[in-house]
Amino acid sequence: MLRTPRATLTLLAALTLLTACECRQPKPDVEPETAVRQEAREERYALPGLDHGLVQSPVNILSGRAEGGHHEIAINMHGAEPNHLENKGHTIQLDFQPGSSVTLDGNEYQLKQAHFHTPSEHQIDGITYPMEGHIVNMIEPKTPEEPPRYLVVSFLFRMGEADPFITSFLDQVPSEEGGEELEAGQVYLSPNDRNPDYEYYHYRGSLTTPPYTETVEWLIVKEIQQASPEQIRRIHLLEGDNARRVQALYGRKVDD
Ligand SMILES: [Zn+2]
Repeated sequence: MLRTPRATLTLLAALTLLTACECRQPKPDVEPETAVRQEAREERYALPGLDHGLVQSPVNILSGRAEGGHHEIAINMHGAEPNHLENKGHTIQLDFQPGSSVTLDGNEYQLKQAHFHTPSEHQIDGITYPMEGHIVNMIEPKTPEEPPRYLVVSFLFRMGEADPFITSFLDQVPSEEGGEELEAGQVYLSPNDRNPDYEYYHYRGSLTTPPYTETVEWLIVKEIQQASPEQIRRIHLLEGDNARRVQALYGRKVDD
């Protein structure tokens, strides 16, 4: 049926009236914001660096701008053996027996633990990788006032061949939150065995989880590692999306 111009006008008038009526409805009371909602809002919209300082991690590394580090790095992790494996809910963590260390420019940091992030926290030239492994080393503070000093070695993973280190423990990760002791001789972390000549990006930053302590030397291994899609999928299933978003450099230099 063809609509006459008059009918169209009537329809328009009715619509206008309807809309106008809706506008005159009293507004429903706005629910007071719950603490949880407020926390979520603040987390989502927090500006990088402003909440916890200006030396935060992770960052996006621009490979073309990283130069001039000349660092002395010695990794002493041959046969480093974890004795505890834990599903912490937000990450999978392996705790190591004392005895291994990383030395950066004359400072020796003791190997403590390794854990994973899915996807990667650091980016290289804007690329987020499906997984990142952090090997956390530490110099214990000498006084209670002093913060601990950390050195984190970071490995970025792409999908490819299965990683033998991950294979050695993945089947034993508890499916629920909780930990278990590892028997001696089960799992070894030997970065030196893979490639003794790793090259690194280096910068000063923070822990990427609370309390975001800003006394961290970061060494990001340039060579992208491989893990199988199945390994990455299983780790992601266990820990979920646990990558902190990238933070501004605020004048910091990334060197290599
Ligand atoms: Zn981490």
